[in-house]
Amino acid sequence: MFKEYDIIVVGAGHAGCEAAAAAANLGSKVLLITMNMSNMAQMSCNPSMGGIAKGQIIREIDALGGYSGIVTDKTMIQFRMLNKSKGPAMWSPRAQSDRILFSMQWREMLENTPNLDFWQDNVTSVLTKGNTILGVETEFGQKINAKSVILTNGTFLNGIIHIGERKFKGGRIGENSSLGLTENLINLGFESLRMKTGTPVRVDGRTIDFSKLTEQKGDDFPKKFSFTNTPALTKQKSCYLAYTSLDVHNILRTGFDKSPMFAGRIEGIGPRYCPSIEDKIERFSGKDSHQLFVEPEGWNTVEYYLNGFSSSLPENIQFKALQRISGFENAKIFRSGYAIEYDYFPPVQLKYSLETKLIENLYFSGQINGTTGYEEAAAQGMIAGINAHLKNNNKPLFTLKRSEAYIGVLIDDLITKGVDEPYRMFTSRAEYRILLRQDNADIRLTPIAHKLGLISNQRNNEVLQKQELINEIQRFINKTSVTPDQINPLLKKKNTSPLLQKQKISSLLLRPQISLTELISFLPFFSNYIKSLENINNEILEEAEILTKYNGYISKEQDIANKLSKLENIELHESFNYKNLLSLSFEAREKLSKIKPKTIGQASRISGVSPSDISVLIVYLGR
Ligand SMILES: Cc1cc2nc3c(=O)[nH]c(=O)nc-3n(C[C@H](O)[C@H](O)[C@H](O)COP(=O)(O)OP(=O)(O)OC[C@H]3O[C@@H](n4cnc5c(N)ncnc54)[C@H](O)[C@@H]3O)c2cc1C
Repeated sequence: MFKEYDIIVVGAGHAGCEAAAAAANLGSKVLLITMNMSNMAQMSCNPSMGGIAKGQIIREIDALGGYSGIVTDKTMIQFRMLNKSKGPAMWSPRAQSDRILFSMQWREMLENTPNLDFWQDNVTSVLTKGNTILGVETEFGQKINAKSVILTNGTFLNGIIHIGERKFKGGRIGENSSLGLTENLINLGFESLRMKTGTPVRVDGRTIDFSKLTEQKGDDFPKKFSFTNTPALTKQKSCYLAYTSLDVHNILRTGFDKSPMFAGRIEGIGPRYCPSIEDKIERFSGKDSHQLFVEPEGWNTVEYYLNGFSSSLPENIQFKALQRISGFENAKIFRSGYAIEYDYFPPVQLKYSLETKLIENLYFSGQINGTTGYEEAAAQGMIAGINAHLKNNNKPLFTLKRSEAYIGVLIDDLITKGVDEPYRMFTSRAEYRILLRQDNADIRLTPIAHKLGLISNQRNNEVLQKQELINEIQRFINKTSVTPDQINPLLKKKNTSPLLQKQKISSLLLRPQISLTELISFLPFFSNYIKSLENINNEILEEAEILTKYNGYISKEQDIANKLSKLENIELHESFNYKNLLSLSFEAREKLSKIKPKTIGQASRISGVSPSDISVLIVYLGR
């Protein structure tokens, strides 16, 4: 029934969908096998994309030719640029999504992708010969061959759902868990551990008194995630803020003896920074109130998601506590909150390409690697999809450096440091965050993706043209001066000291009170110059402004990245025997032998490998 595929992707979550899209767009014959084709790219938890550091990842996926940004733009119901009061390194786009449309849009885009076939089934094992992948076997008894297999099973591997004292098998509420595959992989020699996560109640919006909540509107001028010509939002739905109280906490406490977490029935490690409400009450016992976000689930539904109220307490306790929250006195719920425990595979078992070290041409991506979040999963899916294609075609592997992309930081962290709790991206994980801004993701990455074959000539040319226009504006403002007469009225209005002699526009822009757009509209010669540039737009002006205002920081970070890249260029061979290098500390010998870093740079980031161990390696290598 099935011919041999180039690549089989198992699971159509965020990782699987991006993996399948990337590999098929590069020209591989791909089969996407998933348990239920009706909920592809399902948002298991909150109906939102992006946010701090995650928004940057979506922009990067989009710049590389992935679909997550386009799908988000086409299905969002609210857009906000977070952290706008901080520097541009921190600006992070966030969208409230229509959960149902999001999944439908993904499916439509994948169905319109050439080279991509679909099969609804449950993969129960991978087929191998020696240490090479041959394909997969499914619950329906199909044995399907492929040159490569990408596993993206998310929270489904031996998933167990907990609500109060009840527990049952499931990969997500209402869906089966994936059985057999973990044991199959363990038999092949892989290590697997448990993690957990949770989700809150979904509330009937018809029963919420919104007048008691604080409205949180979208941005007045909503932006987009995709650099392509996706439509901009013309109307938006609001989110709301609500607050728990001591009364709510006391009711929740009455269920603590039945909590699967406190009673020790859940062993997996959960996300520390995304705790359940019962966790928050326990950990911050001095706090009488916690903020909740009331988020609409879509355009055409009354369902609301209560972000911050994640719980696995018995439903009746969740319900009773909910009704004590101001605005929720008469609330009804559609779905209860729950926790889920699942298997993951520590990602130090992977190479930079996300291929496993143990079985050739087998790749893992997404939550199976101990991450959490749609964006982190989607990014890994792209990397695995691209690399599976490249390896099958004997082409060099595709990796992104930590100084090139958040995606580079993500993969390097996972395979080098491993995870001891569900890994999510933060801006603080990136040492070069002023370089890795959301606004410049296309300039950083689109030309790279064009070389891979994921971006059309036209799209790449547009980015090159954008870069040229930014350079042109920078040249102009670096060489053009304004006189005190020309500019002092504006400086006075802006409460900043007047000029005594003429000054370059670029130096004026260093003043926090002065923006490029204000200068353009105030100075007729500047405005005429800008009008003379073809294809100019606000994005280009914003980029030129950021590069000028933050030039000092950007150059400094780029210098450090260049210096450190020397360490990234000193390669370490996979077969290097660290055990024989006795001047290394015992811990370093153990860790280096396990992780087998590709470069001195990667070795230096392994916890337990000290700077003196790195010196030993450098001396040994004669460098
Ligand atoms: C209850 C819950 C709460 C969560 N809370 C948060 C949160 O607060 N914050 C956050 O960032 N993230 C949260 N997440 C995680 C988020 O949903 C995931 O990070 C993200 O969906 C992972 O994407 P993925 O592609 O790796 O896997 P998933 O989205 O889980 O997709 C896996 C896909 O694989 C399919 N599949 C699995 N096994 C098989 C098989 N053997 N054969 C065929 N198909 C298979 C499934 O049907 C599914 O389509 C939560 C998830 C759950 C379930």
